[in-house]
Amino acid sequence: RAKAEGRGTVCTFSRDMDAQARDRQALEADLRAAMSANEIYLVYQPILAAENGQITSVEALARWAHPTRGQIGPDVFIPLAEECGFITQLGEQLLHRACTDALGWPSHIRVAVNLSPLQIQAGRLSATIREVLDQTGLPADRLQLEVTEGLVIRDVERTFIELERLRALGIQILMDDFGVGYSSLSYFERFRFDKVKIDKSFVSNLSPSQSSKAIIKAVIGLGRDLGMGIVAEGVETREQMEELVRLGCTHFQGFLFSEPLGASMIAGFSQTFPKAVGRSNAARRVRQ
Ligand code: C2E
Ligand code: MG
Ligand code: MG
Ligand code: MG
Repeated sequence: RAKAEGRGTVCTFSRDMDAQARDRQALEADLRAAMSANEIYLVYQPILAAENGQITSVEALARWAHPTRGQIGPDVFIPLAEECGFITQLGEQLLHRACTDALGWPSHIRVAVNLSPLQIQAGRLSATIREVLDQTGLPADRLQLEVTEGLVIRDVERTFIELERLRALGIQILMDDFGVGYSSLSYFERFRFDKVKIDKSFVSNLSPSQSSKAIIKAVIGLGRDLGMGIVAEGVETREQMEELVRLGCTHFQGFLFSEPLGASMIAGFSQTFPKAVGRSNAARRVRQ
């Protein structure tokens, strides 16, 4: 009986796998279509300076409005695009869009674009980015690129050479999701990132966990000594923000301040925000 059950389980399992594979294939085909139909678009989440609550930059986050399945998150379709070889093309489209949108905002607001490891591996990233900057007219110093540790580990030397080229153009390079991957402190020896983003998992564990606090403290110390700004992502509560200010984070991003917004809302946000929420006591303390 156990055997029969076991076999039944395997059978169901493989039927499920079949269904899953078919579903994935369908989604893959949809993704190809979505790219040309402009179903994939960007929203922008404000990032604020701890010292005065002013917006300094926004992070471009990709969204997919699927005609029948509804919204599909980037955690699903970015890996899919990577696996089926679309990511270079999609990444370039999104970069172009982000640079174009940024031209509609006050010029002190930078735009941060996430890079997939595969975009760098494709080899002509710095050339592509230069082309996009030329075509759109966005000054290079208004562009930031967010790279993850995964990007760095695959081919360390080539990656850092490419990142140096980009930085030579005036683009800022940020280390994203720091602490969740295979962080190696030696990367900081090899390359000076302009900013480090502390992963939101550390921020959300902040109050219950002493170890998260210790890790954040260590990253901030490292950042300070190496001249890197420290962005805390996923800040959801005022308590978290105040603790992060005490610890010395230089920038904040999270639902406490704003969810990702449409491009047309950024200019308005930059005018109203510091009056409404910024300049907390904690933020003032940092400035002294
Ligand atoms: P990420 O680069 O670490 O982006 C931050 C994620 O945290 C975003 O999720 C954002 O919506 C979310 N977030 C921001 N504030 C809060 C908060 O207070 N609480 C919580 N719980 N979450 C918050 P999203 O937009 O779902 O993006 C997920 C990931 O997908 C990104 O993580 C990034 O790795 C990737 N991604 C998004 N857009 C792109 C893109 O255009 N290109 C590439 N290559 N990857 C992208
Ligand atoms: Mg990011
Ligand atoms: Mg991140
Ligand atoms: Mg993340």
